Amino acid sequence: MHEFSIAEAIVHAAQEVAQAHGGGKVEAVRLRIGELRQVVPEALLFAFDVLKQETPLAEASLQWENVPARVRCRECHTEYHPEDVFWECPACGAFGGEVLAGEELEIIGVTLWGGTHGD
Ligand SMILES: [Zn+2]
Repeated sequence: MHEFSIAEAIVHAAQEVAQAHGGGKVEAVRLRIGELRQVVPEALLFAFDVLKQETPLAEASLQWENVPARVRCRECHTEYHPEDVFWECPACGAFGGEVLAGEELEIIGVTLWGGTHGD
């Protein structure tokens, strides 16, 4: 259940944004989550709903966009989407590669009641 620690970090960070802007309530938190993080949406929402109680996020909703994984082959530099836990280059068959995208886990916006404060 690493979703709980993710949700904890989200609640904490959004609370700091709310405090920095006068201590208002949070309406929504927007995230970007990379595919390689293997976050289970239902588990994250559940954890968020539990942890937000009695915080300025009590009525906040959670929204996110998924970032598909992209890997670049170290041998032939082909960029591809890994289909499996084993990353195999579709061009040359080499395993592994450099991650270009898919490891994101970031807050891209916090909406407070009465205004938006992104970063
Ligand atoms: Zn390759």
